[in-house]
Amino acid sequence: MKKSLIWQLIAAFILAIATGIIFGEKAQVVQPLGDLFLRLIKFIIAPLVLATLVVGVASTNDVKKLSRMGGKTVAIYLITSMLAITLGIIAGKIFSPGSGIDVSLEGKEAPEPNETEGVVQTILNIVPTNPFDALSSGNILQIIFFALMIGIAIALVGEKAEPVRKFFDGFAEVMYKITGMIMAIVPIGVFGLLAPVIGEYGVDVLLPLIKLVLAMVAGCIIQLFVVYSLIVKGLGKMSPLKFFKGIFPASAVAFSTSSSSGTLPVTIKSAQENLGVSKETSTFVLPLGATINMDGTALYVGLCSMFVAQYFGMDLTFSQMVTVVLIGTLASIGTAGVPGAGLIMLTMALSAVNLPLAGIALVGGIDRVLDMMRTSVNVTGDAATAVVVDSSEKKASGGEAV
Ligand code: ASP
Repeated sequence: MKKSLIWQLIAAFILAIATGIIFGEKAQVVQPLGDLFLRLIKFIIAPLVLATLVVGVASTNDVKKLSRMGGKTVAIYLITSMLAITLGIIAGKIFSPGSGIDVSLEGKEAPEPNETEGVVQTILNIVPTNPFDALSSGNILQIIFFALMIGIAIALVGEKAEPVRKFFDGFAEVMYKITGMIMAIVPIGVFGLLAPVIGEYGVDVLLPLIKLVLAMVAGCIIQLFVVYSLIVKGLGKMSPLKFFKGIFPASAVAFSTSSSSGTLPVTIKSAQENLGVSKETSTFVLPLGATINMDGTALYVGLCSMFVAQYFGMDLTFSQMVTVVLIGTLASIGTAGVPGAGLIMLTMALSAVNLPLAGIALVGGIDRVLDMMRTSVNVTGDAATAVVVDSSEKKASGGEAV
């Protein structure tokens, strides 16, 4: 079944590319298939994260272990994001995608510089003033907070909270079942989302910025196949081949939805079933990663900052590059895993180093395509971290994992 899913996904990709090329903009007609899939996947996120995380935490029975796991997770997320953004800057240096191109900015509006909340506010926002509001608006970080609280409290209360724990246990199983049902139509969803994009972005749209697209592809390939291979092999003791095969369904869904939050159910399922990551680890590390870890986006911010600087004939000084790295890393924590979020982060980075915001309009034209690539990397990076944290937790608890 798992093998055949991979083949079905590959077939969906090929079919989508062919449909897009042959029918051009008319490929829009299959969009409802993609939309249906997106809706299904979005509808499961909030209850799935709540239930699985509560169960994960409640069964840990050990708050110390939880904070240890949290520390490791956040550390790996920060380091890989910084690596990625540096890689983006290096790719920008090597490919020089912004020099010698002529794309008119006329008629392209630079978006308003986004009002971005400060770091303190971002942290404060993790605490929901109304947990049900968080659930209904699908604010993942707040849902995580709510779930952590319930889970910890269940563990502390013990005996008397047993019915609540059992309830969430059963509820989580039901949510897994629904996720499994949705997974059955993943290939159709991928096709429905991808064909219209390919139809819309013909070669004409991409050609003027082809160097930027190629630099992004190169950066993503290195991040995926060099950085993650090393991490997964070196720290997670897993063969990279197994890792990439196992996470492929999630990467494919990320590629077509451009949303790491939207991909979350598939990421959790793939990590558990194909990569053998424990429920406890996957339900903790992955929802967190979908919101605070975006390596692909970080890479994109590094690369596009270089691109904009080159386009306007400016050179980034070393200290400006360091600023881009820091701002990009911080911004990736505060930005949600939804389509187009990276553009907001890019705006922040550009204004931090005084680059013209008009550059956003340039990149904006092909952002959907770059978004697909970076979201795939984002999700794969979350999974690589889950593998590493899981392996180290299994070691810490003497090999017995939940
Ligand atoms: N779409 C990306 C994600 O969901 C965020 C971004 O726009 O870079 O991971």
